[in-house]
Amino acid sequence: AEAVVAEKAAPTPPASTIKISSRERVIFPEDGITKGALGDYYTAMAGVMLPWLAHRPISLVRCPQGRAKQCFFQKHDAGSFGEQVHHVDIREKDGGTEPYLYVENADGMLACVQMGTIEFHGWGSRVEDVEKPDRLVFDLDPDEGLDFDDVKRAAEHIKSVLADMGLTSFPMLSGGKGVHVVVPLSPRAEWPAVKSFADRFARALAADQPERFTATMSKAKRKGRIFIDWLRNQRGSTAVLPYVVRARPGAPVAAPVAWSEFKALDTAARWTLKDAGELIERAGSRLLQGWGVADQVLPEV
Ligand code: ATP
Ligand code: MN
Ligand code: MN
Repeated sequence: AEAVVAEKAAPTPPASTIKISSRERVIFPEDGITKGALGDYYTAMAGVMLPWLAHRPISLVRCPQGRAKQCFFQKHDAGSFGEQVHHVDIREKDGGTEPYLYVENADGMLACVQMGTIEFHGWGSRVEDVEKPDRLVFDLDPDEGLDFDDVKRAAEHIKSVLADMGLTSFPMLSGGKGVHVVVPLSPRAEWPAVKSFADRFARALAADQPERFTATMSKAKRKGRIFIDWLRNQRGSTAVLPYVVRARPGAPVAAPVAWSEFKALDTAARWTLKDAGELIERAGSRLLQGWGVADQVLPEV
C-alpha cells in the first residue's frame, strides 16, 4: 500500500501560469528592482501568502510605471484583470452593489502583479461571509520622531491588555513605520459590533495613557504619540496583508513575527523582497507555527 501512495503522489502543479510581461521594467528605481523580480517574489511566496490573501475582498496598490510614478488604490473590478481575478458583489451604503476583487490562487495573484500591482490589502472578512470579520487589526501609527522601541512597547502593551481579556494576538511588521497587532476571530459577530469593540478598546487605551496613545486620526493630536488606528476595523476598510511588498524604497515586506523575537527587532522594514527564501523558511518554522490563528470571539464589554 505504501508503494501505491508513493507512485500516485501528484506532481506539484505549476505555481502560476501567468506570464509577466516587461520583466525588465524597473519598478523600484532606488533599488533597481524590476517587475520580473516582483513577479518572482510573489510566485515564490504564493504558498505562504494565499492562506491570508485568497477568498478575501482585496484592494490593490497599482503602480504600472513603478513606485515613483503614479500609483492608485483600486477596490473594484474594472473588468480588465482577466478570468483569474474574481469579483464578489458587495452591498454599498446607498443600497447598490459594487464588484470587489478577490483571488483564489497563484494565478489570480500573479494576474494582479501583471497588471502593475505592488501591494495587496485585504478586508477583515472573507468573501463567503463578508459581514462577519475573521480578524481585527490594531494598526499602530507613530508620530514622526518616535522610535521603533516606542512602537514595540506600545504593541506589547496592547498584547497584554488583549490577553487580559482572553484574546490572543499576533504582531506583524508593516514594512513601513509601524506594527499591526492582529487578533484572529471566529467569524460570528458582524462589523458594527467589531468596529465598536475596536473603537472602545482604542479610546480606553488613550484615556488610560494619554501621553502615549491617541485614538484620534488628527496629526495635531498625534504629537509625540502613537495613533491606534482602530478604523481598519470598519466594514470596507482594508489592511496590508502578510508578506506583501510595500511600494516604498527598498521594497520592504509586511512580515509576520513572533512575540518571542519581537523585542530584538529594530525596524518595521526588517525584511524585503530580496528575502523570499528566508521568509518562506520562517513561515514554515516553529517560531511562526500557528501565527494568526486562534478560535476566539470578542468578549462582551
Ligand atoms: P505604516 O506602518 O507605515 O503605517 P501601514 O500599512 O499601516 O504602514 P497606513 O497608512 O497606516 O499604512 O494605512 C493603514 C491601511 O490603510 C493600509 O494598510 C491600507 O490597507 C489602508 N490604506 C492606505 N492608503 C489607502 C488609500 N489611499 N485608500 C484606502 N485605504 C488605504
Ligand atoms: Mn499603519
Ligand atoms: Mn493607519
